[in-house]
Amino acid sequence: MTPGMSIVAYLIAGVLFIRSLGGLSKQETAKTGNLFGVLGMVIAIVVTAITWLQHGAGATAMALLGGAIGIGAIVGGSMARRVEMTGMPELVAILHSFVGLAAVLVGVSSYLGPESHAASTTVVGAAQAAHGAAARIVHRIELWIGIAIGALTFTGSVIAWAKLKGSISGKPLLLPGRHFLNLVIVLAIVAMAFPFVGAAGSSGLVWMLVMTALAGVLGVHLVMAIGGADMPVVVSLLNSYSGWAAASAGFVLNNDLLIVTGALVGASGTILSIIMCRAMNRSILNVVFGGFGTGESKTSVAPVEGEVREIKADELGERLANAKSVIVVPGYGMAVARAQNSVNELCRTLRDKGVKVRFAIHPVAGRLPGHMNVLLAEAGVPYDIVLEMEEINHDFPQTDVVLVIGANDIVNPAALDDPGSPIYGMPVLEVWKSAMVVVSKRGMAAGYAGIENPLFFHENCRMLFGDAKKSVDALVTAVKAKG
Ligand code: NDP
Repeated sequence: MTPGMSIVAYLIAGVLFIRSLGGLSKQETAKTGNLFGVLGMVIAIVVTAITWLQHGAGATAMALLGGAIGIGAIVGGSMARRVEMTGMPELVAILHSFVGLAAVLVGVSSYLGPESHAASTTVVGAAQAAHGAAARIVHRIELWIGIAIGALTFTGSVIAWAKLKGSISGKPLLLPGRHFLNLVIVLAIVAMAFPFVGAAGSSGLVWMLVMTALAGVLGVHLVMAIGGADMPVVVSLLNSYSGWAAASAGFVLNNDLLIVTGALVGASGTILSIIMCRAMNRSILNVVFGGFGTGESKTSVAPVEGEVREIKADELGERLANAKSVIVVPGYGMAVARAQNSVNELCRTLRDKGVKVRFAIHPVAGRLPGHMNVLLAEAGVPYDIVLEMEEINHDFPQTDVVLVIGANDIVNPAALDDPGSPIYGMPVLEVWKSAMVVVSKRGMAAGYAGIENPLFFHENCRMLFGDAKKSVDALVTAVKAKG
């Protein structure tokens, strides 16, 4: 394979990755998008292996490459097969940590490899020597940046994984002077780059290891300080960091495709984080450096007063069957109860009776961006009745019944009414504006943000207590019984 052919193959893979991202942005095209991504990755791996062979890689190197790919495929495949939809955020977080760790290892091994210092030792003429020295400086800066981002991504993702998994508390760790501490670490990382870049041979290794440890501490500290309600944005930000870490590994390895792919992941992760921040009325800086979910902005949360009114499946079945327009709001509890198929059946039953049924999706419903869309698509709910928050939020006043299934924070009116609430300012689905809103959940427990929900005490709100799947199954039976 000539260098030109491998560039063309990498270009094709890059285009496939872009098509993949484009496809994944819509439910209808998500599967095709995934296939594009797989195809792009197969091309990338095959071309890299061929290039290796052409550069004289022996049987041992090829066996190592095959072994690494084989082990990765088996571990990744079995993890993906076994993971519950409710465990996806943890899986995504731990996968980001692998990318960060890989960037660190690539950087360290590149620094210790003999070719890293060739530029400083092979002096053929003054001009070439100057060029070699400049190339060495650029290479070392690339290493420094790649390792710093990689180490931060690695430890930050491990903490995010542990928080999401519940292995450590989701509460923010607020050390005194934490912003100052972060600033000192960042400045130390920048300052240590100077002796590292100037160090002869591989004598800068100590600087590199100290910097790696500091960047790792920064990753731990940044994510430990973030409150539960900000975790979706943090997972998305770590996704973007992992992309930048991969791109810098691409610079270190001089691999164009890795640079392009890393930049695509980095940019799309950043855009997703910005979209999510907008959805939560937050600024990215505010999320990264704490505030929301940390209780810092809290003045006092208004006490919730009123009466909780219960409804039974039979009575609700009748209301639903007689309604003209129904909106279903799914949340994390629907995923826990695995109620999506029952929800789809309820939707079909109501539509067969001529009821207009639509779904309202909040951008951070569940525990992963797109969590609800994936579950509903898996159950076969038609895409055209699944609407995003901004498409449907103004329709609640014209709706007869809103059925909230296992959602809590995303329908909490305190986000709009109570300046003392930790989620104040976050746009929510304004379900209380409908004629009747029914919340299906097991009890009165709080949602992810850990705060009470005044919605449950509203005059027009009824609680349908019980596991969401059992409740929705009972509703299907009740609606069908209404003839
Ligand atoms: P919430 O976590 O606010 O509420 C879920 C509700 O589901 C709980 O109150 C719980 O009440 C109920 N529930 C749990 N199990 C069941 C069950 N088997 N049957 C019926 N109900 C059940 O979920 P939302 O989707 O409303 O909000 C998402 C929250 O998660 C937001 O705070 C968001 O910031 C956060 N988050 C989102 C991420 C994302 O990317 N989407 C990632 C990480 C966090 P009860 O126990 O009483 O049944």
